[in-house]
Amino acid sequence: MLIVKKFGGTSVGNAEKIKNVAKRIEQDYRLGNDVIVVLSAMDQTTDELLSLAHEVNMTPPPREMDALLATGEQTSVALMCMALDALNVPAVSLNAFQVPMMSTANHLTARLHKIETERIEHELEARRVVCITGFQGLDKYGDITTIGRGGSDTTAVAVAAAMHADTCEIYTDVDGVYTADPRIVPDARKLQEITYDEMLELASIGAQVLHNRSVELAKKYGVTLVVRDSKSTAEGTYVREVTKVESMLASGVAADKNTVCITIKNVPDAIGSEYRVFDLLSSNSIAVDAILHNMSDNGKIDISILVSKDCAPRAEALLNDNLERIKAEKVIVDEHVAKVSIVGAGIQSSPGVAVKMFEALFNSNIKIKMTYTSEIRITVLIDEIDMENAVRAIHAALI
Ligand code: ADP
Ligand code: ASP
Ligand code: MG
Repeated sequence: MLIVKKFGGTSVGNAEKIKNVAKRIEQDYRLGNDVIVVLSAMDQTTDELLSLAHEVNMTPPPREMDALLATGEQTSVALMCMALDALNVPAVSLNAFQVPMMSTANHLTARLHKIETERIEHELEARRVVCITGFQGLDKYGDITTIGRGGSDTTAVAVAAAMHADTCEIYTDVDGVYTADPRIVPDARKLQEITYDEMLELASIGAQVLHNRSVELAKKYGVTLVVRDSKSTAEGTYVREVTKVESMLASGVAADKNTVCITIKNVPDAIGSEYRVFDLLSSNSIAVDAILHNMSDNGKIDISILVSKDCAPRAEALLNDNLERIKAEKVIVDEHVAKVSIVGAGIQSSPGVAVKMFEALFNSNIKIKMTYTSEIRITVLIDEIDMENAVRAIHAALI
């Protein structure tokens, strides 16, 4: 069997943990499997590198940021190969350059688009465990890129797809995907399995357990993913196309604080207003998550958008610098908001879900600022301070 095993930051957080993970890898290797390991940076390393960069420069050049951040994963793979060597397991570490793993050139938000398999195949044929750096890529200029926070999951799935691996195991600090973040809802239930679509929605709206792009790729290439605990042998949760378990009404609740609401005030209530705003944002690579229009009675409208926290200062500055071009009066920023969503394949056919969700928020005295939906998800924007209570209330009412 060809197995891809990805271990997250907490799973390789210190020498002891690295040695334990190495023993796990050794077991699969000794059974005769080909093993590819994808690693994250140790524990808080990426956060520490980010704050170090900001101590030196409040707006670090993205190219240099990527050069810095990529060092975290490089440390992990080298140490893992040393730990494997100590167990007499032949292993080789490869970074994005050595694989090579090619990506787009958008620093900090690059997308992997081609993974060369020759070197990996050669190392596996020589019966070595191949330890690959997660999170990083190489653009067409040969520069290092990174693919977004939590991106090592995506590296693992991309490698599994390129190598046609039999399984892709994502090891983390929980033993599977739960109906809500177990840190917020202690009585959340572990799911035995979940469909790609439901997992994609959960991941996209804040269930940090899997990087959303990893689920997208797994669905596209039919990679069966399993989320497991790096400290135990518990079964884990399978993410796949069709689940055997009867589809539940709602499969999970997730929350996300990484969002800022920007309101563009008083743009003309006329054809082209939205176009001008979104043209400006998209030509500056600012991704917008949700859009809300408020009608007003003076021939003007307000447009509210949600953007991620790291994009917000850039979006705000850009909009303020272009007030005339977008014909707006001013821009108002609300940083203290959070998104809370419920996801489930059954939502589409059950209008009662929205009512129950709103009722749960009403009973908890939580004000809704914005609501938006997809076929299998309902999301509300609320004050950040209410986030955890909202998750617990919605979970108790619907799951
Ligand atoms: P890693 O460092 O292994 O990539 P992450 O911190 O990115 O781990 O993801 C694991 C964390 O995701 C868990 O500790 C858990 O608190 C959080 N989480 C959020 N939502 C969920 C969920 N629905 N099921 C399981 N874990 C979740
Ligand atoms: N080290 C990166 C991060 O902390 C990537 C990852 O862990 O998946 O976001
Ligand atoms: Mg992660």
